Amino acid sequence: MTAIPFFDLSQEHRQLKAELDAAYDGILERSEFVLGESVKRFEEAFASYIGTRYAVGVSSGLDALELALRAAGIGAGDEVLVPANTFVATALAVSGVGAVPVFVDCDEKRCLLDLESAKKAISPMTKAVIPVHLYGQPVEMQPLIGWCCEHNLQIIEDAAQAHGARVNGQSCGSLGRFGCFSFYPSKNLGALGDAGIITLNDKADYDRLCLLRNYGSVVKYRHEIVGFNKRLDGLQAAFLSVKLPHLKSWNESRVALARRYDERLSGVGDLRLLETKAGHESIYHLYVIRTQKCRALQEFLRENQVATAIHYPVPIHRQPAYQNLSMRAVALPVAERDAERLLSLPMYPQMPPQHVDRVADLIGEFFCR
Ligand SMILES: *Cc1c(COP(=O)(O)O)cnc(C)c1O
Repeated sequence: MTAIPFFDLSQEHRQLKAELDAAYDGILERSEFVLGESVKRFEEAFASYIGTRYAVGVSSGLDALELALRAAGIGAGDEVLVPANTFVATALAVSGVGAVPVFVDCDEKRCLLDLESAKKAISPMTKAVIPVHLYGQPVEMQPLIGWCCEHNLQIIEDAAQAHGARVNGQSCGSLGRFGCFSFYPSKNLGALGDAGIITLNDKADYDRLCLLRNYGSVVKYRHEIVGFNKRLDGLQAAFLSVKLPHLKSWNESRVALARRYDERLSGVGDLRLLETKAGHESIYHLYVIRTQKCRALQEFLRENQVATAIHYPVPIHRQPAYQNLSMRAVALPVAERDAERLLSLPMYPQMPPQHVDRVADLIGEFFCR
């Protein structure tokens, strides 16, 4: 019985080895290690892929979120609405700029930020919302944009799991004031280390982000504002430029594998599959199912050499890091229940379809025992 990994980056890197080597050689030759031409080239290519006028390469997804919040003028005394079920970085970015994350519940059908819950969490201090396109699924943006417009709230998209996900033909990351992406190695588009980018349309925002990421400076030794060192490495940009042309087909493979899981798993046991909305194109960063027997099923799959994961086992408002926050209490029943019933199944573009079948067969067996 062959083990089925949760994901496997080695095939992608073997396939691209010659090009990645050439990218490395090019950077060594030019000695352009931080920012520079290769960063500029990648920023332009990524902005064009997402459909925004600008993109600003930074050092990680967390830094993308934090700089976007700063560029939006969010800071001490402000509140930002954040879904309770997301990777912790979404909330850490808010804390990082001195603002307070206010957690909002998720919807039952797709585990995404629930607008009705957001409406209950708003206060006079609320300045922004961070919709997270979790697992690669686009958040329903139109009603959110309307509501944010009414209340004068900024929208900063956390698209760290959604490189190429689209809603009604528009890419995630092009729908708010800022789109924030991570290129952590295991994301749909991954660097060979930490990296991130911010997508945006406004020239003044672009200029400000270029200052913020580079010591408040675009002209050497002239510092316009108090900035940071949160720049993208030339090497990572060069690697990302090798990978970007493959993203579309990698995402298509994920979608095909997800369809296969959907077909094989619908109606099995008490499983509830995430709903796909018309006009929404998920890129399945993760393939997530819901079951009351989540932990037992995970154990059964593990015994049968299938690796799975839980995203995320503890909602952020239950994390030790956030126990001292004097948060206004908004009930988060769905996020709390989800932490006990979500299970992510193996998913990566090069995954053999037979592995999907084997995982589905095992899940069927588990529920018929
Ligand atoms: C990965 C991720 C981040 C953070 O990205 P890093 O590059 O690891 O800092 C933020 N938000 C979400 C939803 C993520 O999945």
